[in-house]
Amino acid sequence: MTNLFIFNSDLRLRDNPALYEASQKGDSLVTIYFNNQKKWTSHHESDLKIAFQAHHLVELKKNLEDLNITLKIITASGIEDESNKIVEFTKDNDIKNIFLNEEYGANEIKRNETLESALKTLNKKLHRFDSSIFNPKSIKTQSDTFFKVFTPYSKAFRSNLFENEIKLCGLPKKQKSQFLGSDQVELFQLDVEKQNILKLYNVGEDYALNRLSKFTERKILDYKDTRDFPAIDGTSSLSPYLSSGIISGRQCLASALKFHSEENIGVKTWVTEIIWREFYKYILFNFPRVSKNLSFSEKYDNFPWENNDNHFKAWTNGETGVPIIDAAMTQLNKTGWMHNRLRMIVAMYLTKNLLIDWRKGEKYFMKNLIDGDFASNNGGWQWSASTGVDAAPYFRIFNPITQSEKFDKDGIFIKKWLPQLSVLKKVHDPLPDERIKIGYSQHLVDLKESRKKAIEAFSSFSN
Ligand SMILES: Cc1cc2nc3c(=O)[nH]c(=O)nc-3n(C[C@H](O)[C@H](O)[C@H](O)COP(=O)(O)OP(=O)(O)OC[C@H]3O[C@@H](n4cnc5c(N)ncnc54)[C@H](O)[C@@H]3O)c2cc1C
Repeated sequence: MTNLFIFNSDLRLRDNPALYEASQKGDSLVTIYFNNQKKWTSHHESDLKIAFQAHHLVELKKNLEDLNITLKIITASGIEDESNKIVEFTKDNDIKNIFLNEEYGANEIKRNETLESALKTLNKKLHRFDSSIFNPKSIKTQSDTFFKVFTPYSKAFRSNLFENEIKLCGLPKKQKSQFLGSDQVELFQLDVEKQNILKLYNVGEDYALNRLSKFTERKILDYKDTRDFPAIDGTSSLSPYLSSGIISGRQCLASALKFHSEENIGVKTWVTEIIWREFYKYILFNFPRVSKNLSFSEKYDNFPWENNDNHFKAWTNGETGVPIIDAAMTQLNKTGWMHNRLRMIVAMYLTKNLLIDWRKGEKYFMKNLIDGDFASNNGGWQWSASTGVDAAPYFRIFNPITQSEKFDKDGIFIKKWLPQLSVLKKVHDPLPDERIKIGYSQHLVDLKESRKKAIEAFSSFSN
C-alpha cells in the first residue's frame, strides 16, 4: 500500500506529525510539493521566500530519498486546483490514504474540506493533523469562548504545555522501496539583486536545528535584555525557518526548555514570543474574518484611511526623513528581513503618522519578507494599526525619534543602513540644513501634527 503526504508550510522531516504517521502505515510513501504561482501571487508571497524554499527542497529531496520517500513537484493553478490535482494523483496511483498538516487560512481550510469530501466519495481518506502546537479549538476561556486577549491565552497555553509533556515525532520510517522516481527541483529564477540576498540564508533542516540549539543553549539567556536593539544580534533569526516550517514551534519550545527553565527571564520572554506566533494562528482559525482582508475589530471596516500614494512610496523606499524608519526599510529591501522592534515602528508610522491602510503595509511586507507568514504578519500589522486583536491602543502612538534614541542610542543601526548619515553627530533627527548638506530627505510629515490627526481620526471611530 502506498500513502501520500502533501507538503504545506512544513518542509521538514522531523517533528512532522502527518509525514510521520504516513510513513508508519504503508509500504511506500510519496510526497507532493505544489509549484503554484497563482496561489503565491494571490497570497503576495515573496519571490525570495519561494526561492528559499526551492533551495531547501533540493536538500529535503535528498533526505527523503535516503528514506525511500518520493518527492513529486506538481504544478497547480490556484489553491482550488490543488485538490483536483491531489484527487487525480490518488486515482492514477491507486492511493487510499492521504496525510497533511493543516494550515489555518480560510482558503486552505476550504481546500482541505473540499478535498476531504471528494476523497470520501472515492472511498479514500484524508488524515488531517494540527500544525499548531495545540488544536486551535482546544484553548478556550472559562465561558467556553475563544480568547481575544493574549495574556490569559498564554496562561492557558502554558498550563496545557506543562500538563502535557512536549512530544516530538522522530524521523519518518524508512520505506521498503521507493514508489516512483522523484522530480527534479527547479530553482526559482530571481533577479541578480535578489539572488545576492538569497545567499545570506543557509538552507536545510540540519542547519536550522543547529541554529536553534546554539541559540537556546546560551544566547536565549540574554534575550530579554538584547532583543529590542536592532544593532545587536540578540534574537534567534529563526523566522525564515519557522515560516516555511523547516523547524516547528514545538521543536523551539522543546529546545528552549531542554536546556533551561522558564525561571530564567530570557527563556520566559522567548517562549512568550513563540506563544505569540501560536496566538496569531489561533486567531486566524477562530476568527476567519482576518483572513478575508478585514480588520479583526469590525468597527474599523470603514475607517477613512488617507492612502496618499506618494507617502506610501516614500515609506517603501526608505525616504520618509525619519532615519530609524528609512534604515529599517532599507534593511528590509536589502535583506528580506527586519528586526521586530523596527517592524512595529515602521508599521505604526505608516498607519498612524501617514494614516495609510495597514493592508498596504501588510502586502508590502509579504511581498518582500523571506519570513512572510500570513498569521504573524497580519497580527503584527493589525496590532500596530490598533484594528487587531489585543492591539496597541490607538492613542499610544510610538514617537519614532524617541524609539530611535532608546533602541539605537549610538545610531549604529542607522549608520549601517544609511551610511550618508555617518558624518553627523546626532543621527536620530538631523537638522534641516544638515539634511540638505548630506542629501538626506526632509520629514515627509510633521510628527506631532500627524500624531494629533491620527488620534482625532481614531477617537471619532472608537466611540
Ligand atoms: C508589523 C509586523 C509584521 C510582522 N510580520 C511577520 C511575518 O511576516 N513573519 C513572521 O514570522 N513574523 C512576523 N512578525 C513578528 C516578528 O517581527 C518576527 O517573527 C521576528 O522579528 C523574527 O525574528 P527572530 O526569528 O529573530 O525572532 P525571535 O525574537 O528570536 O523570536 C522567535 C520566534 O518567535 C516568533 N515571534 C517573535 N515575535 C513575534 C511576534 N511579535 N508575533 C508573532 N510571532 C513572533 C517568530 O516565529 C520568531 O522567529 C511581524 C511583526 C510585526 C510587528
